[in-house]
Order: sequence, then C-alpha cells, then structure tokens
Amino acid sequence: MQNWDYVLKFIICGDAAVGKSSLLIRLTDQRFLASPDPTLGVEFGSKLLDVPIDGGKEKKVKLQCWDTAGTESFRSITRSYYRGAAGCLLVYDVTSRASFMNARTWLSDVREHADPHLSCILVANKIDLCESADSSGGPARSGKAREVTAEEGEQWAKEEGLLFVEASAKSGQNVELAFVTASRDILDKVERGL
Ligand code: GDP
Repeated sequence: MQNWDYVLKFIICGDAAVGKSSLLIRLTDQRFLASPDPTLGVEFGSKLLDVPIDGGKEKKVKLQCWDTAGTESFRSITRSYYRGAAGCLLVYDVTSRASFMNARTWLSDVREHADPHLSCILVANKIDLCESADSSGGPARSGKAREVTAEEGEQWAKEEGLLFVEASAKSGQNVELAFVTASRDILDKVERGL
C-alpha cells in the first residue's frame, strides 16, 4: 500500500555552482560534499515529507525532485524537464550578485515552459558563508562577502509573487523548510481546486 497522500514533482533551477545539487543531496541524503564532481551532478532525488496543512493536520508528500545537473550552461532545458512540475526551487548564491541577477532569466524560462500554477520558492543559498561576519558588517571569516541582502531577495520575491527563504546546503539550515513551504503552497492550491 502506498504510504503518501500526494506525489509532487519539483525542479531546481539557477546558475551553475549556486548549490542546486548540494541542496538536493542535503534533502535526500543529509550530507554535504565540499567538492561534488560536476560531471556526476545529481539528477534525481526522492523524499517523503510531512507537510502541515490548515487545521493542524499533515499530509504525506512523496517529493520527486529533478536537478538541472549541468544543463544550465546550455540554457536549453527540454520541455520534458518542466512538464508536470508542481514546484520549483529557484536558487541563487548570496555571495554572487550575478547569480541573483540571472535568477530573472531563470524565472522567465520557468514561466515560459512550466505550468502557470507552479509554486516557486526563491532560495538564497550559502548563508553559512556570511554568518561569521563581524557586527561592523565586515567580511565573513570565510573571506566571502555577502553580495545580496536578505531584504533585497525578499523584496524581489514579493514583486514576482515567489515564496522566499535563506538557506545553507552546507549546514542544512532551512533546506527541508524550503521544500515543505513550497509543498504547502501547492497543497493549498489543490485544496482550493486550482
Ligand atoms: P550546482 O552547480 O548549482 O549544482 O552547485 P553544487 O551543488 O555543485 O555546488 C557548487 C559548489 O558550492 C560546491 O563546491 C559546493 O560544495 C558549494 N556549496 C553548495 N552549497 C553550499 C552552501 O550552502 N554553503 C557553502 N559554503 N558551499 C556550498
């Protein structure tokens, strides 16, 4: 007997090296690889999630998640990648302003090819690199400065009608939350018959 209420397909978009594979590995395998082999990009991961819905109840969701796994350099992701996707993680790296700016192109791609009802969450990844910054706003101990503030990310997400979360595939912070938040939004739409 199946032990889930819904199966949801997710896709992960964003520039190369923002941490898409790492987020997927963190979700499905609770691990982090400091130097994942780009040629072995994870393409698919599956995970059972408990998603809270209104009324204090929970639904079991079987999440099937596809990563672009290297195809981002060609920008020619096939329609089959987007087909049937209910959720999308649009990822940028908080230490790369370019990746934040390029998220606009990724969003247009998604809007062009994916279902118009798709729930999309903007994920500001790698916040662990900024967390040791001193209170004077100097660079983090890692030597990587934050190039996109949380406020900017949140503001753009709001303008575009996206959900938003800051996360770290390295520490695991908010990774599951990103998938649960988007899943909850999808289930909300399903319940409302959208
Ligand atoms: P992708 O090309 O978008 O799939 O990116 P990867 O998952 O291959 O990650 C690119 C690089 O960033 C790798 O060296 C990862 O170890 C690193 N990385 C990914 N996520 C994080 C994170 O949250 N924090 C830190 N510090 N590094 C990360």
